[in-house]
Amino acid sequence: MNDQPFTNQATNQATKQSTKTAEIILTGDRATGPLHLGHYVGSLKQRVDLQNHHQQTILVADMQGLTDNAHNPTKVSSNILNVVADYLAVGINPAKTTICLQSQLPALAELTMYYSNLVTIARLERNPTVKSEIQSKGFERSIPAGFLTYPISQAADITGFHATLVPVGDDQLPMLEQTNEIVRKLNSLAGKKILKECRPLLSNASRLPSTDGKNKMSKTMGNTINLGASEKEIREAVKSMYTDPNHLRIEDPGSVDGNVVFTYLDAFHPEAAYVEELKAHYQRGGLGDGTTKKILEECLQEMLRPIRQKRTEFLSDKAQLIEILSKGSEISREKTQQVLVDVKEVFGLNIL
Ligand code: ATP
Ligand code: MG
Repeated sequence: MNDQPFTNQATNQATKQSTKTAEIILTGDRATGPLHLGHYVGSLKQRVDLQNHHQQTILVADMQGLTDNAHNPTKVSSNILNVVADYLAVGINPAKTTICLQSQLPALAELTMYYSNLVTIARLERNPTVKSEIQSKGFERSIPAGFLTYPISQAADITGFHATLVPVGDDQLPMLEQTNEIVRKLNSLAGKKILKECRPLLSNASRLPSTDGKNKMSKTMGNTINLGASEKEIREAVKSMYTDPNHLRIEDPGSVDGNVVFTYLDAFHPEAAYVEELKAHYQRGGLGDGTTKKILEECLQEMLRPIRQKRTEFLSDKAQLIEILSKGSEISREKTQQVLVDVKEVFGLNIL
């Protein structure tokens, strides 16, 4: 852990960020559960790097978390600080990255309202990620309006910071497309460039599967290996991993395609050349699933041990987490308010 408390460093966020490059980064995570390995490879790892070179804001999306959890709001409220602790535990530094809470930025809700006039229901219904989420959540007959429109609220989040680069998993690509459509419509209405288009930054593991290989690892599906997972949870998760069902005996040649153990080794093992050797050995036969699982388990245990420890330390000081979130939200409130003024101007609603 750092010697200096993050709360002191957080005060300097705005000044420090002003010396960085022109690229503005906005990412976020729904506060619907603790963060998991999918977040780590899909986006968190990149954010730790990016914070050294760019202006970066990370948004804890609590309002968006409610769009499919309004019947159980404590699921969202009880996870806000968990998510902040996860950020800090993997190396997000609030002196370099502004961490803020979506519900504390009223300009974002207002922007969502204005943008919703630029998007048709048919367009929202075509969004492939929303479509598959509606199906998996069993919403077919009763889709909350907030859920169907959450891509508009994400457009508000991104444009509210004039973000140009968004590190995300591939499920978010349709949201970025939707955002850029709104940007183009608004700019065309204004007759000048009020908002900026953004581009995604994908990692090489932009959709980490769950251990059974059937779905994307996600909080809602309950199929995660969390960053705070215990040694036992990690061991059991790896043991239960889907491999090649036709690889019955050790000497049989096995397939690495769709074999979750190898997908995870590719994503997490620090030595790519060694993983390639393992793959070749597995494919020609003579390497058992017990051995590959053991190698993966050791790799994950080693990676997650310090993260778990830091996470526990950060969670033991909730006041510090709240202070970080509150300072970051204060800075972000001002930024997003300015964008709202510009957008209202386009609609001629700044007369008072
Ligand atoms: P929920 O089930 O509540 O939607 P989630 O696990 O999908 O939660 P989000 O908060 O929706 O997580 O996603 C936050 C960010 O992490 C997004 O950029 C998303 O693309 C990325 N992400 C989430 N799951 C994965 C995954 N399995 N692989 C790669 N990236 C992921
Ligand atoms: Mg999600």
